[in-house]
Amino acid sequence: MRQTREDGPDAGIAARLKQVRERIERAGGDPKAVHVLAVTKGFGPDAVAAAWNVGLFEVGENYAQELVAKRAALTELGQRGVRWHFLGAIQTNKIRALAGLVDCWQSVSRESEGGRIARARPGATVLIQVAFSSDAGRPGCEPEAVPALARTLVGFGLDVSGLMAVAPRPADEARAAFRTVRRLADDLGLPVRSIGMTEDL
Ligand SMILES: *Cc1c(COP(=O)(O)O)cnc(C)c1O
Repeated sequence: MRQTREDGPDAGIAARLKQVRERIERAGGDPKAVHVLAVTKGFGPDAVAAAWNVGLFEVGENYAQELVAKRAALTELGQRGVRWHFLGAIQTNKIRALAGLVDCWQSVSRESEGGRIARARPGATVLIQVAFSSDAGRPGCEPEAVPALARTLVGFGLDVSGLMAVAPRPADEARAAFRTVRRLADDLGLPVRSIGMTEDL
């Protein structure tokens, strides 16, 4: 990780990142295995630049237009090497435009989405978004249907590296959901589990 100045403009974010990493460690998480994803939706390119300055090169975006604009802005600033994760609902008519820009599609929940991604970017890295029943309306694949979808996506030549879930509320339901995600990922031998937002921490 790049050294940041104690009093520079990135000092605030650097300090908060340090706190987050300390909390992860106190909770028994291996800091090398638990990655912090900087979700910058709704913020401008300066937020991505600030994350980059403290060594957070994995960035999550929910909206196609924001991702396109911020990616261009970062390239302009010469801040390269960001890995862009797409977290939002996938609009099939945006897949072609995003395919060359997204490094990991975290919110694949349907075979048709996977098929389109595979055609636009063969071998793309994807996660399957797992849906929870108490969370109607959110995109996602029911837990029982995840193994079959994973097989189909692998059959399309996609690199299925894990699962993603947005936790339902309240917290005890979130815990149960995270356990389900972990068990499913273990069963399928998938290393990545993209779970937990600010509130869950
Ligand atoms: C928005 C979002 C996040 C980040 O949420 P915060 O509350 O800002 O931490 C994480 N994961 C997904 C899938 C999201 O859509």
